[in-house]
Amino acid sequence: MRTKLRSQHRAVPPCLFSAMNAENFQTSERLVSAAYVRQGSQGRRAHELRLRALLEQGKCPEDGWDESTIELFLHELAIMDSNNFLGNCGVGEREGRVASGLVARRHYRLIHGIGRSGDISAVQPKAAGSSLLNKLTNSLVLDIIKLAGVKTANSCFVVPMATGMSLTLCFLTLRHKRPQAKYIIWPRIDQKSCFKSMITGGFEPVVIENVLEGDELRTDLKAVEAKIQDLGADNILCVHSTTSCFAPRVPDRLEELAEICAKYDIPHIVNNAYGVQSSKCMHLIQQGARRGRIDAFVQSLDKNFMVPVGGAIIAGFNDSFIQEISKMYPGRASASPSLDVLITLLTLGTKGYQRLLKERKEMFSYLSSEMKKLAEAYNERLLDTPHNPISLAMSLKELSEQNGTAVTQLGSMLFTRQVSGARVVPLGTVQTVSGYTFEGFMAHTNKYPCAYLNAASAIGITKEDVDVFLKRLDKCLKALRKGKDDGKYSLVANEDTVFDIGKCSIAEGDTEN
Ligand SMILES: *Cc1c(COP(=O)(O)O)cnc(C)c1O
Repeated sequence: MRTKLRSQHRAVPPCLFSAMNAENFQTSERLVSAAYVRQGSQGRRAHELRLRALLEQGKCPEDGWDESTIELFLHELAIMDSNNFLGNCGVGEREGRVASGLVARRHYRLIHGIGRSGDISAVQPKAAGSSLLNKLTNSLVLDIIKLAGVKTANSCFVVPMATGMSLTLCFLTLRHKRPQAKYIIWPRIDQKSCFKSMITGGFEPVVIENVLEGDELRTDLKAVEAKIQDLGADNILCVHSTTSCFAPRVPDRLEELAEICAKYDIPHIVNNAYGVQSSKCMHLIQQGARRGRIDAFVQSLDKNFMVPVGGAIIAGFNDSFIQEISKMYPGRASASPSLDVLITLLTLGTKGYQRLLKERKEMFSYLSSEMKKLAEAYNERLLDTPHNPISLAMSLKELSEQNGTAVTQLGSMLFTRQVSGARVVPLGTVQTVSGYTFEGFMAHTNKYPCAYLNAASAIGITKEDVDVFLKRLDKCLKALRKGKDDGKYSLVANEDTVFDIGKCSIAEGDTEN
């Protein structure tokens, strides 16, 4: 019996899972009958095989793993790190000591983070487990990016900074290649972090106003090209374009922008903040890279993978450029965002992630048709923005024509009724960001024809979210209309007067991420 068991275990290749190895199983037979031990070891082997496939292929498994497999895996990774060595004596300045057990458990005892002083992607000799985690995560994330539609992407890494800072890191890397270039050509999108990503890096954004086509705001390609000729290609650090955005702006014309960048030999960085969840955004990036030039595209972890805020993915088509960016990161970094996304992808599997993407798309259609009905019931309309796959907008024409503050009142009412993410955009907001003044801020253009309200169908949204949102929106609009019947817009429901809504900026508070 023993020899049989041993030979059986010899067939299993050396594996990360080690706590209950062949030797220990055999020893267990002294306490529990060999047949039971054998069954136990076979049970374990099923977990090991999943891990073997993961290590061999570096791809997201099709079927999600049980939490038991994931936890086993994480514990095994952790004991490969020196802070968990039983005989370790640390006399360095960073020994992965953690005072709180709660903190240690929160991180699965992976304390060393990722990277070395010079490169966020480098292997950390003190932490084989954390280093393996980092490499595996980057490999799985690349697999998902390809699966989501950018098939020829060939390099990426998770960086523990949100999207804005990650864009800055890309720009700073380009500065070393184009030291004299200070301008960044930026088709306008009214979102502060992507604007500040350029300011923080010390660059000068050149804002290209969008053009109105029907209801949609689209990239002004002629203006982009004219600006390049005007400033001189050598003085331009890059073109900084955007996919995912609030309607009625739509994703930039990436293909044409990429062609312009190729023509003038100008780098091209794409802000794909929440675009991984949309096959359309991903397709645009793929087409841009096929037809022209895209150097890197950056996406948020929390917005695309349902994890806490804290990380982004920098991806591209030229491995050596993406590596240059990772080398630009000074020092070590938190492993938390990588760990969160790794756990999430192993939990979901590709099937689970694709199911979420499919459900999101279905909810987008549902939200779109329901918002259209509601808009029409109030003599408004759903703006026609077919190129925006995630965000929708409905006009608030009547409301804004009757009373200047009614639109912001609506925003406040939705906020106090716990509708989050809906965003009202009044006309004529002027906002100064880092010394630059934007007219019509939030609307992506100086003068959009009407005020409107945004809602988005983002990954994880449920039918209940949509139904409850529309019900509450209906109530708010009804209340405001009642106010109108009295000759003025006013807040009818008492609960809303808890705040001095006319003056406070609650409405605005929910317009930014
Ligand atoms: C979320 C987002 C960003 C980046 O914001 P971070 O907080 O830095 O992740 C940039 N642009 C757009 C369009 C966004 O939606």
